[in-house]
Amino acid sequence: FLPRLMAALEQVDQTYIMVKPDGVQRGLVGEIISRFEKKGFKLTGLKLFQCSKELAEEHYKDLKQKPFFPAMIDYITSGPVVSMAWEGIGVVPSARKLIGATDPLQAEPGTIRGDLAVQRGRNVIHGSDSPENGQREIALWFKEGELCEWTPVQEPWLIE
Ligand code: UDP
Ligand code: MG
Repeated sequence: FLPRLMAALEQVDQTYIMVKPDGVQRGLVGEIISRFEKKGFKLTGLKLFQCSKELAEEHYKDLKQKPFFPAMIDYITSGPVVSMAWEGIGVVPSARKLIGATDPLQAEPGTIRGDLAVQRGRNVIHGSDSPENGQREIALWFKEGELCEWTPVQEPWLIE
């Protein structure tokens, strides 16, 4: 059991998940957190947060040249977001699957965007697209001391 658990824990990654202002305004925070909890990922950071234009622009810096960039920055800064760090084996691609396609009309039913949104410009949630970006974004959105290391009691029931 122990060697297999150790091997499994080596593949552990972190992802930055954010309920965008429309998700907060529409009362979807609990529903969204539930989906990640039920899947079996570990929450290591959580806060309601009004972000600055500067932070939003840094977070989305790779999209700076896109035509939708200014509207998207207005959207992300239009109200509080819920910032989360989640940890688990393969959490980055798995969270992207739970979230669904960028365009909610293309997102599969059963995904967060597929079930809860209709437009790319109001797609309720963000999730990191690589483990490297997971680290980068968590460092960007959380200060030292805001993240918790802990061991959920359910761990042996999730990871063999
Ligand atoms: N976005 C938009 N119009 C587009 C493409 C993207 O408003 O044509 C917004 C959308 O909210 C998306 C965000 O920009 O979630 C970041 O785009 P990305 O391609 O990284 O999509 P994601 O990784 O969020 O699925
Ligand atoms: Mg993206």
